[in-house]
Amino acid sequence: MERMTSPKNIPSPAVSASAANDAKTTTAPKSRTAEARSAARRPAQVMPATEGWDQAKNPEGRPLLQFKSPRVSQPPVHLADMTLPEREARFKEMGLPAFRAKQLSVHYFQHYTTDPERMSDLPKDRRTEITETMFPKLLTEIKRLTTDNGDTVKFLWRLFDGSLVESVLMRYPGRITLCVSSQCGCGMNCPFCATGQAGLTRNMSTAEILDQIVQANRVIAEGGLGNLRRDGGHDADRVTNIVFMGMGEPLANYKRVMNAVHRMVAEAPEGLGMSARGITVSTVGLAPAIRKLAEEGVAITFALSLHAPDDELRDELIPVNDKWKVDEVLDAAYNYYKVTGRRVSIEYALIKDMNDHPWRAEMLAKKLNARGRGWVHVNPIPLNPTPGSIWTSSEPAVMAEFINTLIDLGVPTTLRDTRGKEIDGACGQLAAAE
Ligand code: SF4
Repeated sequence: MERMTSPKNIPSPAVSASAANDAKTTTAPKSRTAEARSAARRPAQVMPATEGWDQAKNPEGRPLLQFKSPRVSQPPVHLADMTLPEREARFKEMGLPAFRAKQLSVHYFQHYTTDPERMSDLPKDRRTEITETMFPKLLTEIKRLTTDNGDTVKFLWRLFDGSLVESVLMRYPGRITLCVSSQCGCGMNCPFCATGQAGLTRNMSTAEILDQIVQANRVIAEGGLGNLRRDGGHDADRVTNIVFMGMGEPLANYKRVMNAVHRMVAEAPEGLGMSARGITVSTVGLAPAIRKLAEEGVAITFALSLHAPDDELRDELIPVNDKWKVDEVLDAAYNYYKVTGRRVSIEYALIKDMNDHPWRAEMLAKKLNARGRGWVHVNPIPLNPTPGSIWTSSEPAVMAEFINTLIDLGVPTTLRDTRGKEIDGACGQLAAAE
């Protein structure tokens, strides 16, 4: 694909004001050094643009958004797609007693196995038939990357139709987090994102989402996630936290994602028996779905990938902002807090000269505080330094000023960990490389 030309540089409102002041006060020509110094001090405004690929556009020339999954063949039905009563009904159809459904569910959700040889409690003459019917192969591992100290593992999976998705497993003291994918590709078309480039192939099924966790649990049980603590502290022995920050926009695949969430929190053998608090659903801002999420009755953590407090920039950075503007999305996020009592996370990737200006930190604090105090936490995310790219990290001093501005204005703010980036950049990069 054709490489994009250099990014547009347009002045922000703050820049315009300072530029106007410069024009008034500067009459004599400055020396080159003084000019260079002044330019270095002047806050630039880099606008988002794709690099090395062309963004699909709609007839109005705006980035194309895809909300509906194309009509393509769906993965076969798997045990994890069904509730426990549905599994029991299926077993009855097969002429087997309902309690066998529970036994099989224990093998899958608690022992992480689909191997008939390891199911000695099931009738020998039916084991293969049962596992072939209830456990069609959903995810085939085709690549695994592990960091040097072994605490982070990135998986690339091939699905039944050849689609590629990723998950990332990360060990922290006392907990293990898995970043899962929820769609094959993505229809949100963000200009910085490898996953969005090819658009949306299809929604992942409930079982495809859950199988990422079960397979990760199996890898942990087999010792595939290293860097165990040596200080005597407690190590988690299975995935304790889920973040929907892999490929896809989870709220665009609402029904299947929520079925998966309900099965994550359901007690074994119906599901994985995980704590709802440890599950984070992250969205670029589908306001109606955020309002629906608040009514689900499961108190998961909700994260909004905001990245800009002003519509002017966010329209370009997060194309779905064309449909739901910053204020509407923040209102929906605040409503989530009001209904569930769960504090909302605001994700904010700090990108050099694009969204890291002090006036944006002030605007963000103002918009959050206008809705109340104590309802939100901002997580700035440092990008990797990328020489020559417009998508590069903010300078450390700029980052510190942004964070301190928010804190000074009363907004709890913590720089987020970016584990996983060292093994292959952001989400979707492994799949994009195949
Ligand atoms: S950043 Fe997220 S929402 Fe945007 S295109 Fe990528 S996967 Fe989709």
